[in-house]
Amino acid sequence: MRHQKINWTTLVFVVSYHLLLVGMAPFAFGVLSWSAWTGFLITFVVGGLTITAGYHRLYAHKAYEARPVFEWAVLLGSTLAFQWSALVWSHDHRLHHNHVDTDKDPYSVKKGFWHAHMLWLFTYRRKFDRALVADLLRNPRVVFQDRYYLALTIGVNAAVLGLACLFMPPLAAFWAVILLRIFAVHHCTWFINSLAHVWGSRTYARELSAVDNAVLAFLTFGEGYHNYHHAFASDYRNGVRWYHFDPTKWLVRAASLVGLTSHLRVIQTVRVQKALVSKDKRLLLDRLSAEVDELAMELSRKLEHLADTFDGNVAALSGSLAEFREASKEKRALLRIEIRRLRREIRANWKAWVALTRWTARRYAPTHSH
Ligand SMILES: [Zn+2]
Ligand SMILES: [Zn+2]
Repeated sequence: MRHQKINWTTLVFVVSYHLLLVGMAPFAFGVLSWSAWTGFLITFVVGGLTITAGYHRLYAHKAYEARPVFEWAVLLGSTLAFQWSALVWSHDHRLHHNHVDTDKDPYSVKKGFWHAHMLWLFTYRRKFDRALVADLLRNPRVVFQDRYYLALTIGVNAAVLGLACLFMPPLAAFWAVILLRIFAVHHCTWFINSLAHVWGSRTYARELSAVDNAVLAFLTFGEGYHNYHHAFASDYRNGVRWYHFDPTKWLVRAASLVGLTSHLRVIQTVRVQKALVSKDKRLLLDRLSAEVDELAMELSRKLEHLADTFDGNVAALSGSLAEFREASKEKRALLRIEIRRLRREIRANWKAWVALTRWTARRYAPTHSH
């Protein structure tokens, strides 16, 4: 194995807090109270959500815009997560998206589960590319947090510890509100790079390692819908359905209601479906081309036809919508009927598509061919 330089500061920090957490546990258990668990929970939620809503969706992906006061809350609150500055974090995360599953991906799961989870931190050599985060370098708040990151982190955590000590013995405060919280926020974030690239379903981007997993979404403030996220990273939501557990999405949406956030970017359902149709079509036609029976040929024709009909209707819809924006009042009434009809058609096409592709995929499962 190639000799790799170790990032000693990171390694010593991570190993030490794990050891302290375990070593102090027998003593801490005696003094833990409800207030200690409450302190843990509050700092865990603040640390977690400022990373997911702030670092991830606001800065790394620009999925929405925020008022400076919201940004400051993010930039200070995230020091509870110990994941370095928003600038550096976004830089690495953009690399992850641009080069996912390759050697340029800082936390590529192809190098193993534990590499993606945490080992990458100990050997990673960042070649900081200013062009990759040019937009963030123009944001004075982000630059300030990056420059004074260490001081801010020590200051905020010392203040939190001091505050916690007013409600509980210092040992309980240090163990639950500092050590246990860092441990929990770290591993939950790291799960997104490890488990969310391994354990779950691939609906939107089958060619990527990223997966959707509701259990993980629960642990990661909604970031477990990671396959969708990799397919449509500019969407401010990761869980797109109303019943998907995505507290980050709820926070951003709630903040928009009081004017703290704006320009929430949403990928329209039709666009998601269109992407799925073209991917499914390619995948299934490829699979069917290996077959010689009559049914496979018939199915190929059906798939092509249905995909074309769907695409045609989607194109017609976007044409009508564009026309609608320019149209006069009388014309709009007519267009409204046409738009409604097209939406109905597209819904029916989509249903037929799902049924046909499901059936085809089952009949010609990958193991069946070759
Ligand atoms: Zn990922
Ligand atoms: Zn991302």
